[in-house]
Amino acid sequence: MPAKRVLISGAGIAGTTLAYWLHRNGFEPVVVERAPELRPGGYKIDIRGAALDVVERMGIMEPIRAARTDIQSASIVNAKGRKVASLDGDTFGGREHGDAEIHRGELGRIIYGLTESAVDYRFGDSIASLEQTADGVDVEFESGKAEHFDLVVGADGLHSRTRRLAFGPEDDYIWPMGYGVASYSVPNDLGLDRCELTYVGPNRTALVYNTAGNTHATALFLWAADKLEYDRSDRAAQVAILREAYANEGWEVPKLLAAAETTPDFYFDSLAQIAMDTLAQGRVALVGDAAHCASAASGQGTSLALVDAYVLAGELAKADGDPSAFAAYETIVAPFAKANQALGPSNIKGMVIPSKARISSSMAFLAVVSRMPGKERLMAPVVKAIHKAATAIDLPEYQK
Ligand SMILES: Cc1cc2nc3c(=O)[nH]c(=O)nc-3n(C[C@H](O)[C@H](O)[C@H](O)COP(=O)(O)OP(=O)(O)OC[C@H]3O[C@@H](n4cnc5c(N)ncnc54)[C@H](O)[C@@H]3O)c2cc1C
Repeated sequence: MPAKRVLISGAGIAGTTLAYWLHRNGFEPVVVERAPELRPGGYKIDIRGAALDVVERMGIMEPIRAARTDIQSASIVNAKGRKVASLDGDTFGGREHGDAEIHRGELGRIIYGLTESAVDYRFGDSIASLEQTADGVDVEFESGKAEHFDLVVGADGLHSRTRRLAFGPEDDYIWPMGYGVASYSVPNDLGLDRCELTYVGPNRTALVYNTAGNTHATALFLWAADKLEYDRSDRAAQVAILREAYANEGWEVPKLLAAAETTPDFYFDSLAQIAMDTLAQGRVALVGDAAHCASAASGQGTSLALVDAYVLAGELAKADGDPSAFAAYETIVAPFAKANQALGPSNIKGMVIPSKARISSSMAFLAVVSRMPGKERLMAPVVKAIHKAATAIDLPEYQK
């Protein structure tokens, strides 16, 4: 019997991981990615709990550990750049039990490297239309090509086109959280060495860090934005929104903003979550952010994507490629996704603080905590909550 052909839309973490597992399970995955090449960039991300088992089973733990950020310390600074409070990197990031922190772009490169020679990647193209038939899905691409696939999976992120085509408009599924997020590489003018500095202004936070092996630094901005409406294809307009959100802000913010004009990996979005009643329509299913985005504030989006992809491929293998596997996949991952999504709204409240008075009291508290012996224990409830969500799934063992 010929291998089942599965079209995956999106070569992000979910898409490349799914391609890996499908290929390993005897399928023929084809990945279509809108960008002309693998997209670099993105903030540093954590691989935790069940997701560690997935990367272990993929045999990529070693390159992941080798590319770890190795952040040694994280400090809160005031407008003059003076450190108000400092914690070690792992405590600040809520990491334990071998959790790994790595740049999103690095992880993408590692997984892509694992699959590149075996998987048919098509960059610079995108699905234009889908039509489900009795035995598969007829797909037309933006490039004008038309092809038949057994199954289609949308791994095309928060603003998934596959989801729109198969399930309906984005507005029916997206829950904006009321914040904007931007991240990109900046020159390491502060001479940072594997450390992170955070500045908290009213309703807007900015931070910059340097990671092991990188000569540049990375900036991250998180700000309150009741309604963030923008053109996703218009970078200049996005930079203008960012500049306006941080107008007249102190510390190093003006310099960090200036780099937005020329940086090679500008990332900008609204912080939002995706909630779906079901993750499949016939022969079309969703994984990762497209299925149940937990938002940057959850710190668990990438772990979710890894687990989703592993389970979906495993269930498809178990069912010999029958779309009934989609229901089994959904049953297994839905509670895990829900537990991790719950982290987003609570985390963001500690990251973006509305008033000067609240900022002062938070800073005073952190300053005291950071000087206390055994401060790691004080952070334990936060770490415990993250760990509980990150392990809220019994990862099935599949045959291969
Ligand atoms: C460049 C980039 C930077 C990011 N930076 C951060 C960050 O700083 N902080 C953070 O928390 N999260 C960031 N994210 C999101 C984070 O990667 C995800 O939350 C998480 O890794 C889950 O991944 P995903 O594969 O489901 O989605 P994504 O990582 O969003 O990947 C989706 C992929 O689909 C592609 N795509 C989109 N539309 C189409 C289409 N119509 N046709 C074909 N392909 C399409 C995209 O180009 C992308 O490669 C970033 C995502 C990207 C793409």
